[in-house]
Amino acid sequence: MADKGRGILTVVSGFAGSGKGTVMKKLVEGHDEYALSVSATSRSPRPGEQEGISYFFKSREEFEKMIADDELLEYAEYVGNYYGTPKDFVFSRMDEGKDVILEIELQGAMQIKEKYPDTLLIFLSPPDAGELFRRLKGRGTETDEVIEKRMKRAAEEAQSIKNYDYLIINDNIDECVRRVHEAIQTAHHTVRHEAELIARLEEGLKAGIR
Ligand code: 5GP
Repeated sequence: MADKGRGILTVVSGFAGSGKGTVMKKLVEGHDEYALSVSATSRSPRPGEQEGISYFFKSREEFEKMIADDELLEYAEYVGNYYGTPKDFVFSRMDEGKDVILEIELQGAMQIKEKYPDTLLIFLSPPDAGELFRRLKGRGTETDEVIEKRMKRAAEEAQSIKNYDYLIINDNIDECVRRVHEAIQTAHHTVRHEAELIARLEEGLKAGIR
């Protein structure tokens, strides 16, 4: 089998309440070729969230210092809080051959796509708007006001789904995990991710190997 080489960078976005957190957790638990990036945020922890596992929780001042020190691959403000991807982890894990997954919102996704056009972009969505609302409400962790803000934000975000490579509906978690896994594995065989294999083929052919 060909040497795996450098890992692929995948961005997964989805409306708040799309279930993407659960899908990503299952994907990473089931496949050790993936590494999930841990973001920094200025929002407060929700019950059960852990420092360094869910997020690196920062004050706005600390976050702004990370921006100034160029420690972030991308960052965005989302519903009044900063969110960003620390650079170091992403590049070191990709160099080790891991496929790194960023679970980030749309503005960050667009920044990454612009800087790193080889990135695979996946958007996860519940089957319809009603299901999205029921999931947000059912989570019970946000006030009605925040839920309304997130529904409004979802309406804006829907406009940009067309900038992604794949839209995967999260109706059934296992099926959704399987589809995300398949999309990333397929991306390994696109010519833009097979530069080393192409170079080896060219070399062998030029050298007249029989
Ligand atoms: P939540 O507050 O629900 O954990 O996350 C809110 C939104 O921020 C989600 O859409 C999540 O994907 C996004 N997000 C989490 N981490 C990052 C990040 O590092 N960068 C960006 N741009 N968005 C992020």
